[in-house]
This record gives sequence, structure tokens and C-alpha cells, in this order.
Amino acid sequence: MTNFRPRKLPPNITEDAFQRFATKVINICGSENVKIISATLELIDGDYMQSCKAHASAIISPRNVPEVQDTVRLCNKLCVPLWPFSAGRNIGYGGTAPRVSVSVRMDMGLHMNKVLNVSVEGSYTLVEPGVTYFELHDYLEEHKLRVPDVGGGSIIGNAVERGVGYSKHQDHGIMHCGLEVILPDGELLLAALQLWLWPYNDGIFTQSSLGIVVKMGIWLMPNPGGFQAYMITFPRDDDLPKITDTIRPLRLQMVLQNVLTLRHITLDAAVANNKASYTDRKEPWNGDELYAIAQKLDLGYWNSFGAVYGPEPTRKVLLEFIKGVPLAIPGSEFWLPEDRTEPFSVLHTRAKVLQGIPTTNELSHLFFSPISKITGKDATAQYDLSKKRCFEAGFDFNGNFVVGMRAMHHSVWNVFNREGPEARKKARWLILTLVDDCAARGWAEYRTHIPLMDQIANTQNFNDTAQMKLNEKIKNAVDPNGILAPGKNGIWPNKYKKKGWVL
Ligand code: ADP
Repeated sequence: MTNFRPRKLPPNITEDAFQRFATKVINICGSENVKIISATLELIDGDYMQSCKAHASAIISPRNVPEVQDTVRLCNKLCVPLWPFSAGRNIGYGGTAPRVSVSVRMDMGLHMNKVLNVSVEGSYTLVEPGVTYFELHDYLEEHKLRVPDVGGGSIIGNAVERGVGYSKHQDHGIMHCGLEVILPDGELLLAALQLWLWPYNDGIFTQSSLGIVVKMGIWLMPNPGGFQAYMITFPRDDDLPKITDTIRPLRLQMVLQNVLTLRHITLDAAVANNKASYTDRKEPWNGDELYAIAQKLDLGYWNSFGAVYGPEPTRKVLLEFIKGVPLAIPGSEFWLPEDRTEPFSVLHTRAKVLQGIPTTNELSHLFFSPISKITGKDATAQYDLSKKRCFEAGFDFNGNFVVGMRAMHHSVWNVFNREGPEARKKARWLILTLVDDCAARGWAEYRTHIPLMDQIANTQNFNDTAQMKLNEKIKNAVDPNGILAPGKNGIWPNKYKKKGWVL
């Protein structure tokens, strides 16, 4: 009999129980779809397209819905923790890594990767977990439809985590029409492609550990009849409050049709080139250096990217209003893609992404993502605080504001040398400190990397942690053995002694 021994056993699972699990799951999914992470297996760090999948005791790749159901039932019987992922490319928030590090990982995307249905007249699609933005884009091109976002992430993985995009479809979780979910007891809840299900309980399956999504309906963007991307450059660091207060009414009235981004110069400088190409200094940039870089790149200290959609008369009217923004802020400039002649311009990348042509040109690492009101006062307070803490840690501030309808996602792109133990320590200090700083001011994060889940959950403590009490009640009722993604978003099932696990 083959001996299936992982590098490390999942918590409270004996070698014997794991052996039984491995034997049975091979019967369900086939030996070629079960990979045991043994002590002799070489662990590969990976990259964006082939992300590291090693923090597990085993990786299971089911081929269809019944195999997912049978595997879930088996995990339930043996109390084996299971962590599903789709493409595993949300690297800024943890990639495929489970919160309980030796969980069994379920690779939902390897085989279940088909576009099942496209409604051209209704402008929506039904997809399996492995379908990425790239793949759906190729499929849709011939139907003059687009699906908005960057890169190789999966439609389902991004939507269930409430990922945001830059186009007209901001919150990808909201843009779904139906989910087909497998509950922790293996039951199949069928709701995919029902355009409305009454009563609406889809929300409990986003940012959730209550189900495995096997199909999802998602809105597509019909051809709007015309499209124009643009960039507005703002010259000074202290333009931020004026910019925010000027664009808010335009966003509320939907004159700004897409999710405008407002990017700090360090981001665009980094996209153009690495830091060593600008300076030998290792310390964070100072203001004068950044003004010089902005001038060299012919960009602003803040740079904003957007697009208008529709036939020519619609675009013309909208652009007239939008061109009022640079007029309100001295020294600002309005640019079209053809105005930019440098070899690599963010505007050219955005001109693709905003009309639903995915790219992988702008990706980064450890994200810190608090939410800000769309006011100059709040944006400046969050920017000042984050910048101060980044400098204390010895890092540059890399960040942008993603302007939604009533709030902004403020992404701080915490870029550090992950090979350096000192840099890792500092990056950790920085993000832990920022979470506490933001909590003290009443700012919440929209999504987070795995080691911060408990800390952030603790900051959401209104009325004696009423929300956590509800979440735990639901978790224990729906998943009494606590097998599905234990600890995700700080929600620990009763089976796990929370005190021993919380970070
Ligand atoms: P992306 O597609 O953006 O690369 P991932 O596949 O890494 O995203 O998924 C991000 C997270 O979303 C996972 O760690 C998991 O918590 C959750 N998730 C992804 N796919 C599913 C799914 N099919 N069912 C339930 N949760 C999922």
C-alpha cells in the first residue's frame, strides 16, 4: 500500500486518518488529481502565473461538481480542513495560501474552467472557477462583449472576494447574477444564472467560509458604441484634497462613468522603471526627488485615469464636464492616449483595461486597503498617516485611491524585498501598525492578507462584537465540523480553539 505522508499533518489529523483520507480522495478524483505535499517534494516559490501552491498537506483538483461534493463529504467525515481557490493569483492578499497552513487545498480552476453560457442579448455569462479574465476575453471578442479587469485572476475568485475593477463594473461581487454553491455538508445549492433569487442570500457566500462556488453568472459590458480613455495630471502633492472634492460630485452624478483611479507618482515612476534607474539612494524618496521624477516623466504628482463610454455625442458632453476638473486645479493637464509617446505609458495600459481588454502590466505585493470617504479631508488624513508610517518603516509610499460611488478604496502597495529578513520584519510592522492606526480613526479595510485577518476582525467590534457573534453562529450552524476555510476573515469555528489560533 502506498504511504501518503505529508510534510506536515493538518491539525488533529493522525497519520492513519490522513492515509485513509488520501486513499479515498484518490478514488474520488483520480491519483493524477491528488498531490501530496511530502517532505521530499521540491517547493517552488512560483510567480504570478504559476503561483506557489505549497503551503498545504495536499492539493486536490476535482474534475466536476460531484467530485467536489464527495471530497467535501469526506473532509467532513474525517474533519480535514479544506481551502478552495480558483486561479490562486490574488497575490497581494495571500495567493492560494490557506489561513490554517497545512489545510488541504482544493484547486477549483484546474479542470473546472469552462465558459458555460454567454447571453449576448442579455450581456451576462455563466462561468466555472478556472475561467480567467484573459480566457473569457478571448471567448467574448467575437461577440463584441467585454469583461472588465486586469490580468490572469479568475472571474469567480475575484468576485467572491469583492475585488474591485477600474471600469464601469466596480465591485465585481455586485456584478454577479447567481451562484451555484456547495455547502460544507456537500449539498449543492443551485442558483446560478437565476437573475434574481428570493430572498437574496448570495452575500453570505462572498468573503465567506460557508460554501464553495462551482459556477457563477456575471455581468458583461455590452459594446457601448464608443470609448475614450484619458489621463489628468495634477502637479502638486497638496492638490489631493482639492482633487477629491472636485471629482466627488461628478462621480455621484455618474458623469465619471468608470472607477476613476488617483495614483501617487511613485506608482507610475515604478511602472516606468525600477528605483535604481532613478537613484542610488536606498532611503524613501523625498518630495524634491519626486517632483523631479514627475517632471522627467512628464506626469503629475498625482495622476488620474478614467474613460468615457458611449456614442460620440455622449462622450463629447461627458468630456466637457470632465475637462472642468483640470481647470479647477492650477497646473493640471488633460491627456489622451495619442498625446503620450513614451515607450511605456500607464495611460496606454489603462486604455485597454478600461474597455475590458485584460493585461498583467500593473501588479504588486502586500496590499493594505482601507476605505476612505470621498472627501479631501479624509483622503488627506489617510494619505498623511500611511505616508508617515511607510517612511518610519524605511519604505516609499506607493498608493492610489480608487474612486467608487460613495467611498474610495485606498490601496497602499507595500513593496519590499521578500528575500531580506529585515525588510520582511519592517513590512510586517508597517501593516500591523497601519491596521491599528486606521481602527483608532474608525477606518475599515475592504479585504486583507491572511495574517491580518484576526487583527482586522477584532477592529470590527461594534456593540460588543455583535457581527463576529453572528458570523460564528452562522459558521457553526452551516459547518459544524469547521472544515471549510477555518479562520478565514477571523471567523473560527468551535472545533478550533480560537485563542490558540488568533494572530
Ligand atoms: P484569483 O482568482 O483572483 O486569483 P484566488 O483563486 O486566489 O483568486 O481566490 C481568492 C480567495 O477567494 C481564495 O483564497 C478563497 O478564499 C476564495 N475563493 C476562490 N475561489 C473560490 C471558490 N470557487 N469558492 C469559494 N471561495 C473561493
